[in-house]
Amino acid sequence: MAKVWFVGAGPGDPDLITVRGRDLVARAGAILYAGSLVSATALRWARPECAVADSKEMDLDAIVAWLIDQAGRHECVVRLQTGDPALYGALIEMVRPLDAAGIEVGVVPGISSALASAAAAVESLTLPELTQTVILTRVAGRTPMPPGESLAELARHRCTLCIFLSITLLREIQAELRAAGWPDEAPVLVVHKASWPGEEVIVRGALADIRDRCRAAGIHSQAMVIVSPTLGARHWPELRPSKLYDPGFSHRFRRAVVPDPVAAEPRPEHPENMAKDLT
Ligand code: SAH
Repeated sequence: MAKVWFVGAGPGDPDLITVRGRDLVARAGAILYAGSLVSATALRWARPECAVADSKEMDLDAIVAWLIDQAGRHECVVRLQTGDPALYGALIEMVRPLDAAGIEVGVVPGISSALASAAAAVESLTLPELTQTVILTRVAGRTPMPPGESLAELARHRCTLCIFLSITLLREIQAELRAAGWPDEAPVLVVHKASWPGEEVIVRGALADIRDRCRAAGIHSQAMVIVSPTLGARHWPELRPSKLYDPGFSHRFRRAVVPDPVAAEPRPEHPENMAKDLT
């Protein structure tokens, strides 16, 4: 029985696909990749006889027709998606017609460009007592934002914002962040082609000048905009330490060196004592 796999190819560097994704590429009888975004070198593991097509010039109907046609010829068909298929990837629009055609579907997650951009710049998207929340969003382009999701509304949380698909809309980003009360000095990070060997560009600036800096660097596509109170923390003179490595903090894998009054209480249900998701 044929199966169509939606595989996250990762942010660009072919090394950043998962092992499962690479194995599927190596097994596939047919691969459809998003040429403008997925590095063609991600296909280096494909079999020589594998049917390969670039979806760059296909619309949704053509993509679905190709996948259904190939599923009639091969047991394993791969749709290679940039980053992770669950983010801005039209996943459900493709899955529904496959469901209707009775074709089995699977998804393999990938490293999103939001995470690859933070990695490229050696930034943490969360820091204790500064922000513990990340919003993945975009600003309205041809796709309008649903009510309550304007950048100005989201930015009021003062948490980390990873803004996709919006590098040509830096003027709107500036206006909305200002409307939410972010100061002109707020640090902004832009990463173009994060992880692409030899093509990655990192631009750092402030809310007031990021647009000029991106223009000077010639960046107007394939870029992640990150706004966060955590940016630059690597070089701050002082940092609030994470509880995970605090000597006074006990968790499942380590006893406190300095007695911790909270941990001393028998409260195993307390989320901070469950340690699983500590950072
Ligand atoms: N599913 C993808 C996002 C697809 S939408 C993911 O998880 O990353 C396409 C947008 O993603 C681009 O406009 C850009 O904002 C971002 N993007 C994709 N690849 C990128 C990369 N290598 N570096 C920076 N941003 C990237």
